[in-house]
Amino acid sequence: MRELTVSRRKFLAASAIGLGAAALSNFNLREASADGPTAPPPKPLGFAFVGIGGFAMGQLLPGITRAKYCKPVALVSGHPDKARAQARRYNIDPKNIYNYDNYDSIKDNPDIDVVYIVLPNSMHAEYTLRAFQAGKHVICEKPMAVSVKEAQQMVDAAKTAGKRLQIGYRMHFDSPTQACINAIRNGDIGPLQIIEAETGFRIGDPSQWRLNRKLSGGGCLMDIGIYSLSAARYLSGEEPTEVFAHTYGDASDPRFKEVEQNCDFQLKFPSGVLASCLSSYNANLNRYVAHGRNGRCILEPGQAYNGVKFQISKGRSLQAVDVPPLDQFSGEMDGFVQALAGNSPFKATGEEGLQDMRIIEAIYESARTGASVKV
Ligand code: NAD
Repeated sequence: MRELTVSRRKFLAASAIGLGAAALSNFNLREASADGPTAPPPKPLGFAFVGIGGFAMGQLLPGITRAKYCKPVALVSGHPDKARAQARRYNIDPKNIYNYDNYDSIKDNPDIDVVYIVLPNSMHAEYTLRAFQAGKHVICEKPMAVSVKEAQQMVDAAKTAGKRLQIGYRMHFDSPTQACINAIRNGDIGPLQIIEAETGFRIGDPSQWRLNRKLSGGGCLMDIGIYSLSAARYLSGEEPTEVFAHTYGDASDPRFKEVEQNCDFQLKFPSGVLASCLSSYNANLNRYVAHGRNGRCILEPGQAYNGVKFQISKGRSLQAVDVPPLDQFSGEMDGFVQALAGNSPFKATGEEGLQDMRIIEAIYESARTGASVKV
């Protein structure tokens, strides 16, 4: 297989061109790289992490140490020992360790500019609203909430507080993903026809919060299928008008007593593009394919913390495209600070998360009723 290479400079320039054509205009990587040539560097902002579980400890705290414009300054946790150990590791002043009861007193701490919510899904809305009441900006993990109603409250609370809300959509800051979007927008595979988006993994411990409906809000669709949905939206650059879906759960499996095990859904877009999306808590799936009239683009793995691979076929053999990697985690945090400083547009906004929640509710309604649902 022949390999195409995109230089970092060319890639960033192409991303900027891609922005103009993209309907999802806030999905752009140039600013995500957070090193625009003319932008004066913003003052580093202090981040408080709320919930120090697997993702915060495994990805976000290491990620912020690679950021240029962010620093970890506070932790909010129900486990004081764990919080003290992480504070030592990241040089956080122990006086800036909070728990869920004294969380609201972050309002008196000027070191904290941004609160990053990394809690189970059903806690996102409450802790986001409390952060806005404390006068802080917020990044909240995906899915932003467990209902459209909550998501709307979060968007409204940001406006009332005069603060900004970003959702932890890290693929918006991934360079092979952006290169694929640019290729589609540039017409490299001809007019887009069909998108396939598959995401899933085999979930373990039946007692974890992801399998508890009250805490998760739903099953594989909420947790991993949201990536298939997001990919269908950013690859097409359109918003779906209609959805049709099925869900399935093996009632005899202790993992799937409360939430769905598998969800497949189809999306219809205004141009006629159709997306066929799969998500699963019981199969490993990780691939996006965009089929155009004259070729196809493949992202496989389609979503990963790093190492997303982009391949393109313009009617002939498939070619790997070598895209310079950019760090998703420092990228999303630096990107937010750059946007707050006025150096770049906001991406992965609360409104973008709210739109996903509207479509997710339509998907669940279709699966429940057996009928297609207009969005
Ligand atoms: P986790 O179970 O590893 O951590 C959850 C944290 O919440 C823990 O610190 C736990 O102590 C705390 N917590 C507080 N109240 C809790 C309660 N009632 N039940 C359970 N935990 C409670 O989960 P995680 O994988 O870190 O996920 C946290 C959030 O991050 C979720 O919204 C998830 O969707 C999101 N996430 C995003 C990505 C991504 O790639 N963007 C990856 C993983 C997780």
